[in-house]
Amino acid sequence: MAESSFLHQMGNPTGHLAVRGFHCRASDSCPYNPLPREISRIALCGKHLREAYEDAQDLISERWDDACRRYVADLQNTFKPPPAITRRPRQGYVYFIRFGHRVKVGFTENPNRRLGELPHEEVIGVVSGTREDEMAWHALLTDFRVTGEWYQAEPEVMAQIRSVVAKAG
Ligand SMILES: [Zn+2]
Repeated sequence: MAESSFLHQMGNPTGHLAVRGFHCRASDSCPYNPLPREISRIALCGKHLREAYEDAQDLISERWDDACRRYVADLQNTFKPPPAITRRPRQGYVYFIRFGHRVKVGFTENPNRRLGELPHEEVIGVVSGTREDEMAWHALLTDFRVTGEWYQAEPEVMAQIRSVVAKAG
């Protein structure tokens, strides 16, 4: 095929009226011949092949990206991670006992039994609480720590404890 003829068909396909039943497949109303098979396997005229090419480029570069983004967004929206396994804090009691000039802050689920095991001169108080509450107390009193869970029964320590015990009723 002469070059001028090819460019003519690709860009400005005028005058190539289709043989009936063998016209460009873009639409029934396209009056042109499809490009020869050695140029395109798709039976479109030059004008419609170019449009298809431009559409395909758009589809790949933009719509495809949009579709991917939507797909990922949908995945993110519909995918619910399994609920984290959270340990429910065990409810128990934080107890405060004094022995001499030392005070112990501990956690137990069974105050009667626990206090029966521990030497003490005074039960300052037993309040509802968790392990975490006990640990918060240990952090609070860390400067007064003697050993284990025993702390110096300094006036400010005792005041702090008695205040919380009094509020807990
Ligand atoms: Zn056409």
